[in-house]
Amino acid sequence: MASLLCVFFSAFPGEGTILSKLPTSAAASRKVVALTIDDGPHPGYTERILSLLAEHEVKATFFLVGKMAATYPYLVRKIAAQGHTVANHSHYHNNLVQLPPENMPFEWIMCNSTLYSITGTYPKFCRPPGGNYNQQVVAAAAKEGLRMVLWTANAGDCTGISAKTIEQKVMSRTNSGGIILIHDGVEATIEALPEIITKLRKKGFEFVTLDQAFPTSITDRPAKASSKTTSPAPSKGQALPEEDASSSYPTQ
Ligand SMILES: [Zn+2]
Repeated sequence: MASLLCVFFSAFPGEGTILSKLPTSAAASRKVVALTIDDGPHPGYTERILSLLAEHEVKATFFLVGKMAATYPYLVRKIAAQGHTVANHSHYHNNLVQLPPENMPFEWIMCNSTLYSITGTYPKFCRPPGGNYNQQVVAAAAKEGLRMVLWTANAGDCTGISAKTIEQKVMSRTNSGGIILIHDGVEATIEALPEIITKLRKKGFEFVTLDQAFPTSITDRPAKASSKTTSPAPSKGQALPEEDASSSYPTQ
């Protein structure tokens, strides 16, 4: 995976976009970082993560598993209501590369419609479980209006390591424009989170959501309240807009 993570975007021109770093050209004088939280929602954990983020005034991006979102929609509503970005982490958290190609797109589609039914908004970003993808996975995501987002700093927090080690991994791997990957449902991660936020702030980092970092959409779908129809997704192979190099971040 290491080589894949060096890709900024557009590994498969014309068939999708892969983002693994925030645009920094418009924020050269600012150190920005995105905190991304995978695998939720998890009752008993998500609420505590949200409380910590609120306490520290940090907005994050939650890559949610559709099946979990359908089971705990109140947590999804809470995440969205608090201003965090809600994103697609597939419906069943399968390895998308190993699924039959005809079934694979439904992982994006089902999660998208689940999140839309709960929040009234289609997600704009997705992340494949385990970071496993191929050209078909990226193209299927693009067809659903999703940009694939990877990460630069993996906390490795699903491996049973201590809170201190999680913190050290994040701190040593985070640079400006970085995308931090942590997981919902892990006790040590919750324990590490306040220290991670405090230390990154001390080093001058500002936290942004992916919605803030990449404000443009690759498709304009209607909001639930404004229309009941679904606008057509871009056809397979349709060129996607280049990343807006002039993206600007809101002042925190
Ligand atoms: Zn995951």
